[in-house]
Amino acid sequence: KTFADLGLTESLCDACTTLGFKKPTPIQRESLPVALSGKDLIGLAETGSGKTAAFALPMLQALLDKPQPLFGLVIAPTRELAYQISQQFEALGSLINVKCAVLVGGMDMVPQAIALGKRPHIVVATPGRLLDHLENTKGFSLRQLKYLVMDEADRLLDLDFGPILDKILRVLPFERHTMLFSATMNTKLDNLTRAALRNPTRVNI
Ligand code: AMP
Repeated sequence: KTFADLGLTESLCDACTTLGFKKPTPIQRESLPVALSGKDLIGLAETGSGKTAAFALPMLQALLDKPQPLFGLVIAPTRELAYQISQQFEALGSLINVKCAVLVGGMDMVPQAIALGKRPHIVVATPGRLLDHLENTKGFSLRQLKYLVMDEADRLLDLDFGPILDKILRVLPFERHTMLFSATMNTKLDNLTRAALRNPTRVNI
């Protein structure tokens, strides 16, 4: 099956071709139809499986349909992963000029606040710094958010971000699409899933 067969729109299929993605990986093959239909998703997949594009492509397609600032939020456990995710969004979304902001710890808050002031479409963040901005950066709110992704959710919980995630979830709109990706599942993750996702489809590769 091609990306187009899975329901991906032409400009995003072109972006995949430009990046050398000849055909969808297994996680993309399973996730794209579910995510493109707007359903919440739990994706069990390892790094290297192509999971970033599996959530980025459906978000970009929904964004193309109805462009708005602060459309999507991706929460990742580490700075390195946050930057990789943002790069992938910008590469896949270059044809449609997607703007991303990265909010991670260990860096000055001010340039990040300025980036938020430019009203990016997508925010990629680590939990602590995101909460810091939500509490302290004037004019920044996620009340208009349409898509939430929690990437490497098992690592987010291993790093004890659970309580911070709970605080973040409280300020996000209830009407949204949510995807959670993880290499493993366990009881703590089941609880997070119940708190954050609505009637999710589980995709296992
Ligand atoms: P990820 O699992 O998201 O970290 O992706 C691992 C690597 O695979 C990244 O460098 C992607 O650019 C690349 N990739 C993602 N999807 C595809 C695809 N369909 N075909 C070839 N490479 C891909």
